[in-house]
Amino acid sequence: MDNCIFCKIVKGEIPSKKIFENDEMLAFHDITPQAPIHFLIIPKRHISNLMETDAADSALLGKLLFKTQELAAELGCGENGFRLVVNCKKHGGQTVDHLHLHVLGGRQLAWPPG
Ligand code: 5GP
Ligand code: ZN
Repeated sequence: MDNCIFCKIVKGEIPSKKIFENDEMLAFHDITPQAPIHFLIIPKRHISNLMETDAADSALLGKLLFKTQELAAELGCGENGFRLVVNCKKHGGQTVDHLHLHVLGGRQLAWPPG
């Protein structure tokens, strides 16, 4: 997608602080962190949001989810825990239309969200 910020990050056209990448996913620090640890994990392939996935994406979604726990441990929030957030479309507050998982940790987080 030509105008997608995260596709540009995948292609290296916009710089990012990368944490991990392989052929199908990329993890990088959020530019506006909401917690001491705040990073994003995205599929490299453009998928607008979770509602645009189907059964064929199940393996990819599983890998994204499992990678969160590996990276959370590496970044130091495995022990005390973290929050995993996937904002979806308007009511979810999604602002970047490329599927992404937020990992937030390093402080006590409140619940419920606003
Ligand atoms: P959403 O609100 O769509 O769930 O989250 C989008 C996230 O992307 C926000 O937390 C925002 O700070 C982050 N973000 C937006 N643009 C950039 C960027 O250019 N680089 C990085 N690293 N993060 C970004
Ligand atoms: Zn994209």
